[in-house]
Amino acid sequence: MSDLALPRPTKIVCVGRNYLKHAEELGNTVPDEPLLFLKPPSALIGDGATIVRPPESSRVEHEGEIAVVIGQRCRRVADDHALDFVAGLAALNDVTARDLQRKDDQWSRAKGFDTFCPVGPAASADGVAWDALEVTCTVDGQLRQRGRASDMAFPIPFLVSYISGIMTLEPGDIIATGTPEGVGPLVAGNEVAVEVLVGGVPLAAVRNTVEDG
Ligand code: MG
Repeated sequence: MSDLALPRPTKIVCVGRNYLKHAEELGNTVPDEPLLFLKPPSALIGDGATIVRPPESSRVEHEGEIAVVIGQRCRRVADDHALDFVAGLAALNDVTARDLQRKDDQWSRAKGFDTFCPVGPAASADGVAWDALEVTCTVDGQLRQRGRASDMAFPIPFLVSYISGIMTLEPGDIIATGTPEGVGPLVAGNEVAVEVLVGGVPLAAVRNTVEDG
């Protein structure tokens, strides 16, 4: 799927409410500016690893997302040059303790448990038509989420530019670009898969099992 050799990220920058229908399903609207939060690199797991539901939460949900992986350090890059700094794309699951997210004003707890950031191998972004990207999430083979990058409130080049205006992006850093509608629970024994596709052809994927911790 890919052989991109990229360093471990210094940060995982996530975008909330970037698809209108997902914002609505949780009773929210799309914000005027990107809503950002961070997941810690300690939450990262790879393809085939196990998502552990922590005892602190009784509602852990999947969020399938298109992840952008930075290839070169950048700071205040313009929209139209943003993709020059992107090395690859990957499938990411922004696993969320929804009950804890609803309790907290900021989401470090709900989004930050160990194993809550499955990311698959990065595929090269060379020649990729970003607007044509799609993301799907299946649980035990059943389609739960399907979204198109062209439906994002804030498109990928804008997100790279916007985030780089706040924090220097380093090689290996990951941007999780938001999840489409259809988020739902994960329970022990589930097999959850996120795929990133272009023209219906999978480019990148991450597959994980779920267990109770
Ligand atoms: Mg998310």
